[in-house]
Amino acid sequence: MARPPGPLLVFGPRSTTYDLGPGHPLTPRRFGPGIDLLRSVGAEPGLAPEPATDEQLLTVHVAAYLEAVRRFSVDPGRPPERGIGPGDTPAFAGMHEASAAVAGGSIAAIEAILGSDVEHAFHPGGGLHHAMPGHASGFCVYDDPALAIARARRDGLRVLYVDLDVHHGDGVQRVFWRDPGVLTLSIHESGRTLFPGTGFVHEIGEGAAAGSAVNLPMDAGTGEATWLAAIDAVLPGLAAAFGPDLIVSQHGADAHAWDPLAHLRVTTTAMGRAARLVDAIAHRHAGGRWLATGGGGYDVYRVVPRSWSLVWLAGAHREPPPETSPAWRARWAAEAVAYGQAPLPEGFADDPNAGLRYGDLQAAAETRSAAVVALVREALVPGWLRVAEARGWWSPDDRPADADGAGPGSAAGDPTIVARLGRAELDRLSLAPRILPPLDAADGLAVLCRAAEAPDVVVSAAIAGRMIVGLAASVASAEPSGDPGGTAAASSDRSLAAIGVAPDHRRRGLGTALLRAHVDAAGPNTPWRLVTGVADRDPVEPSSPEVRQEVALGLARSAGFRLAVADPALVGVDPSLVVARRP
Ligand SMILES: [Zn+2]
Repeated sequence: MARPPGPLLVFGPRSTTYDLGPGHPLTPRRFGPGIDLLRSVGAEPGLAPEPATDEQLLTVHVAAYLEAVRRFSVDPGRPPERGIGPGDTPAFAGMHEASAAVAGGSIAAIEAILGSDVEHAFHPGGGLHHAMPGHASGFCVYDDPALAIARARRDGLRVLYVDLDVHHGDGVQRVFWRDPGVLTLSIHESGRTLFPGTGFVHEIGEGAAAGSAVNLPMDAGTGEATWLAAIDAVLPGLAAAFGPDLIVSQHGADAHAWDPLAHLRVTTTAMGRAARLVDAIAHRHAGGRWLATGGGGYDVYRVVPRSWSLVWLAGAHREPPPETSPAWRARWAAEAVAYGQAPLPEGFADDPNAGLRYGDLQAAAETRSAAVVALVREALVPGWLRVAEARGWWSPDDRPADADGAGPGSAAGDPTIVARLGRAELDRLSLAPRILPPLDAADGLAVLCRAAEAPDVVVSAAIAGRMIVGLAASVASAEPSGDPGGTAAASSDRSLAAIGVAPDHRRRGLGTALLRAHVDAAGPNTPWRLVTGVADRDPVEPSSPEVRQEVALGLARSAGFRLAVADPALVGVDPSLVVARRP
């Protein structure tokens, strides 16, 4: 029988066995109204989770932890250890099998995607993002998103993980903390007011992976518009710069205004839009490969079912129906009343601000959250993409560029440097990959061609044969307003907006020669500014921040720049940030 259209829905008899006990907020009761509403919009379970093998679990977890979970599984009354015991993650009979089945569901889903059986899959019972390699945490035993990502990494895929749960995705961040092939983005209520107390802006990953963990902590009280704007401000740019092969996303519904365990004021309307953005990014950058999971969500009648349906509908490329099924409401009304989560909403979308009054406290929270987002965007989204977006040379909604004029081509002979490249010359050239963002070279060339038409933009290039193998691009500096989108016609200051050399041509002094030629062409009295940090790393084979910083300093000094003081807030996010000026 042909599978119905839409994402592969992962659910089966074992899904409801992950049961931390009566009264626990993460209750299998959510599958009743949740799967029922999914069915009402056309989804039908197509993959029943079975327990992951030890070999699979050991790709993320340690053997001693698996042994401990197994001991609790047969003897739930044992003394607490490894995060299991009275409290957030209590033991229960059959705990290992039930937890391994959640993991198995996400792993089987990723294998269906890797095998091209499906483009999208949705595992509402998955998303146990707090589980750590050696211990349970925050209702989570085995970390199914991390296990699914690890499976894709085994095939060499580079993965973008997007965590929309109200709690920081700490387990997934931890597992891939040193892996530059996984970019984790988590938006959540600040760790100052909510479990697990992490997910601050300075957590950016380590070593070569610095810059590949991104956190957007929102102040308690932040509402849907600011939450959605935060995602819009960083996700498309990060995705374009990183160029993932696959997306894994976690759609915890607990950022909702009615959630009893947290303090954000997000709506199902905003959650649905975020899911559609993730879908668009999967198609734009990752060949459509997308595994979505559920996550937290403790208003299990009014919020969780609608949130799940909106995720599935986003992957089915369908608008939500005008209202929730009256038959669905009738079936679950009494239970919703019994658990104090009634009445069941008639629409998939919420009223603005979920019907709550918008007051001064929310406004203040949103102002602080928006400032955090601006800081993270400036520190971790490449400057060239930020300028390109502000000037309209690049848009998250762009269709993929025509592949002509990019990618492999002839790069014969030693590169020659052209200090001021004309727009017409660009048309005759192709662009080697990994010189500047977006990662896709065809997209990169399309942005460059648009940029070269701006009167204040100067592009210098190193050209071998008919291929650009190195680039420096600068814009009239918008200082002192600080707005990279400003045209600042009055200013003669110039900002270096991008500099890069293709991998095969690095370490031969080409960057230095390019920068010198570029700066000299502007004349001796032009003041220059250069900012570079982890955001400007080669996302495929990044160096450590220390090496990058040394290279950037050497480059800047050899072109007559001097080190300048960087904004302390930015250095707080990226300690390797280099700001230099000339003269
Ligand atoms: Zn899609």
